[in-house]
Parts: sequence; structure tokens; C-alpha cells
Amino acid sequence: MAEIQLKDVRKSYGALEVIKGIDLHIEPGEFMVFVGPSGCGKSTLLRLISGLEDITGGDLMFDGQRVNNVIPSKRGVAMVFQSYALYPHMTVYDNMAFGMKLAKASAQDVKARVEAAAKLLQIDHLLDRLPKQLSGGQRQRVAIGRAITRDPRVFLFDEPLSNLDAALRVQTRLEIAKLHHEMDKVTMIYVTHDQVEAMTLADRICVLRDGLVEQVGTPEELYERPASLFVAGFIGSPK
Ligand code: ADP
Ligand code: MG
Repeated sequence: MAEIQLKDVRKSYGALEVIKGIDLHIEPGEFMVFVGPSGCGKSTLLRLISGLEDITGGDLMFDGQRVNNVIPSKRGVAMVFQSYALYPHMTVYDNMAFGMKLAKASAQDVKARVEAAAKLLQIDHLLDRLPKQLSGGQRQRVAIGRAITRDPRVFLFDEPLSNLDAALRVQTRLEIAKLHHEMDKVTMIYVTHDQVEAMTLADRICVLRDGLVEQVGTPEELYERPASLFVAGFIGSPK
């Protein structure tokens, strides 16, 4: 679990500035949800926090330490994407073990952690299968399991449910909430454009608009006191 601070964080691609100065404080163990329309910068912001891309202005702090130039594997983050990105030729077990093996964990440690993660996600009966032998929901759980085995301080999710059908979306959403509880309250940052996901999962919601923060607050605060019509439109309350 980590405390994350963004101080006037900016990102440009050439002349195009897409993140325009974001100040935000995420508490240790908090479940923070980013919402906002397509193209507002949600995925970019997650990539900046993960270290997959470098910020072009401002500061990013983890537990009070500046991590602007710290590589992803040293930040203690794990990211789950919309597309599962599993290795097709590897079994579920090997997919989940891959990152740990790269990090030179002992075989015993790898086995214990993969089995614990598989149990938590109820995929322990699928460890010998290949990705193509799994349903979409099972594949997404393997992707989440792979992230868990890295024992991250921070979990980043980029619209992880958008490729699932409605019933599976609900089930997987509940599992992510359960995970947040069971993993000693690991810090989670979750991107979605789905109001229901945002309202049910979030400790706080950060509404993004065109590369800037429009409003941050608990689901209740945003619902009852939206700062603008834009927020009201997103959260679904009349204003
Ligand atoms: P969201 O996830 O909210 O839909 P993105 O973070 O993917 O938005 O994109 C924000 C803006 O940044 C968009 O205008 C997008 O076209 C632009 N963008 C994202 N990645 C790149 C890139 N690698 N090069 C240039 N522009 C990019
Ligand atoms: Mg996106």
C-alpha cells in the first residue's frame, strides 16, 4: 500500500498537451476511481503513474519519494488492462508465474504465490489450461492473478471489465472489491467510464475533463454536490 501524490503533473506528446497540470493526493489503501469521457487522458494518467511513460512536467511521489524517473518494476505497481494480454502458448500457471520468475523468485515462492492468487480468484482448477481454453471472464481473472503474484503496492486497472458481458462484469467487479479488502487494503486506482462501477467501487472518484481534474470526492459528495453540470452528467444526479 502506498500514498501517491501528483503535483502539477503534465504530459505532452510533441506539441499536444494531454495532461495539463494535475494535483491529486491518493491515500494509502484508498480505492480511487478515475472517470471521464473518451480521450480525456485517463489511460495516459495511469501509464504515467505506472512508469510505462514519463511525465513531461511536475512531480510524482510514492510514499514521499519522487519517482519521476523510477522504472516501472521498481515502483511496485501492477497494471491490468482491458485486453488481457496473456501469453497464448503458456499455461495459466506459467502466465501467472512469469513476472515472478523474471524477478528471480525461488520455485517454492512462485508456486506458493501462484496457488494463493489462483485460490483467491477461484481459478485454481484452471492452472494447466491454455488461454484459448478459457472464457473471457476467466482470462481476465488470470490477468488479475498475474498482477497479484507481483505483490504490488499499487494496483492500476484500465477499464478491466469492458470486454466482459453484463453478468460477468458484475461478478468480476465484486471480486475486485473483495480483493481490495483481502490484500491488506492495497492502493487501487481504477479507470472506467461506467458510473455504476465508479459509484460502487470508489472510496473517492476523480472526474477528469480534457486533461484536468474537474472534481474529486466521495461518491456521495459528487452525487449530492456536483461542482458542475459536467460532473452531474457523469455521476447521474440532476443539477
Ligand atoms: P482516455 O483513456 O481517457 O480515453 P487517453 O489517455 O487514451 O484517453 O488519451 C488522451 C489523449 O492523448 C487523446 O487525445 C489521445 O489521442 C492522446 N494520446 C494518447 N496516447 C498518445 C500517444 N502515444 N501519442 C499521441 N497522442 C496520444
Ligand atoms: Mg483509455
